Amino acid sequence: MKRYFIHTFGCQMNVNDTLRMGEVLASMEYGATPTADNADLIILNTCSIREKAEEKMLSALGRYRQVKMQRGALIGVGGCVAQQEKDKILKRVPYVDFVFGPDAIAKLPEMLKRVIDDRARVTETAFVDSEEYVFPTANPETSRGKATEFVTVMKGCDNVCAFCVVPHTRGREVSRAFPEVLKEVASLAAVGVREVTLIGQNVNSYVGGISFAQLLLRVAQVPGIARVRFTTSHPHDLSDELIEAFRLEPKIAPHFHLPVQSGCDTVLKRMRRDYTVAEYLERLAKLRAARPGIAVTTDIIVGYPGESEDDFTQTMKLTETVRYDGQFSFVFSPRPKTAAGMREEEWGPVPHETKVERLERLQALQKRISQEISAAVVGQEVEVLVEGRSNQGVDRRSGKTPHNRTVHFDGDAAIGSLVKVRVDTATQSAFYGKQTQLIEGPTQVIVESPWPDAESCDTPEGTPQLH
Ligand code: SF4
Repeated sequence: MKRYFIHTFGCQMNVNDTLRMGEVLASMEYGATPTADNADLIILNTCSIREKAEEKMLSALGRYRQVKMQRGALIGVGGCVAQQEKDKILKRVPYVDFVFGPDAIAKLPEMLKRVIDDRARVTETAFVDSEEYVFPTANPETSRGKATEFVTVMKGCDNVCAFCVVPHTRGREVSRAFPEVLKEVASLAAVGVREVTLIGQNVNSYVGGISFAQLLLRVAQVPGIARVRFTTSHPHDLSDELIEAFRLEPKIAPHFHLPVQSGCDTVLKRMRRDYTVAEYLERLAKLRAARPGIAVTTDIIVGYPGESEDDFTQTMKLTETVRYDGQFSFVFSPRPKTAAGMREEEWGPVPHETKVERLERLQALQKRISQEISAAVVGQEVEVLVEGRSNQGVDRRSGKTPHNRTVHFDGDAAIGSLVKVRVDTATQSAFYGKQTQLIEGPTQVIVESPWPDAESCDTPEGTPQLH
């Protein structure tokens, strides 16, 4: 059997695309290998949301060159950098065999055939922006052994945020018909998956025959499903109906990632975000009234072109006002083809050292707030869905709370169980404690999953979001 290795960068959409690539390759009798050194096929599933991610791709390609020279491994580049750069990658890196965009995963067999049989170097980066788009679907057999899974419900983005490369790399919005989504969720629940995360670049603008709020409510009713999450959202799609769904259905997990990007209306306007800070806060207040205690996280860009010290101070104030559970914050980096990338000089570039200094201030503030929120949970019991062994010790398990906090704990519950854990200590992003009660065992006997994690682009808090 031939072996493949996929190096994943970036967001949850990419993690999910990697899983789907694995399934296509399994159908061609390729097996996964945990390191590139003994792979016959190496794929880099890339991210272009920030410049640093592209640098990481090039540096990883440099490392894999040795494997190509020693074993003749084939090397493919997929994901958003591939979509953006197309055959420029083949010109720039002569040992890359094929380049393919996110819409071409299903074409992997055809591409590999051309590479192997015709010795061709192949580029497949056409968008499929129509009903003909075939959504990547999880194979339940590869999901057996997992407590959580992603389910793609839409792809692409029709917004035009001035800083964002996603519309150029993922194309227009296409929603998946809701019966297909429900069928996939049911097939995952049947092999023991307890939590599904509905994903899409702009997930709450879903229009697959029912509204996104109705989709969440329907997914929550699938037998065996204990929790439903989703990512990532645009504030203008946080409708009253979606807020009502949070009030009505406790299985919709109490966590909302609501990217604000800036706390200053002038900057938001230049970002082409179509809300003001006051409107954002009004939506958030409604959400918090519907689901008291809901965890809220966000994305923030620091040092956007033209951002003054006063503008930045308003972002700090917003952070204090909202008291986010967590933030993904980054310094602005201009991306190709975006308005902000092309007009940075005109709007006024922020010096790099100023950007970094502001980012440090913002992250220090968020760290304090996250630590305060975590400290308030010490001594309490939290519900945890067990996802696997903890990397914090052999006899420990790990999982997540409904609020999406990672918990490492002493206990022996099987993957897929719901347990109570008493929290003894807490950091900014994780809780540590002991299992006190088994609430509910797994719905299937399941084993550890071998799938790899994505490589974080550049944040200490996790993988970057898209909005
Ligand atoms: S930031 Fe989000 S909503 Fe805006 S263009 Fe990018 S993907 Fe679309």
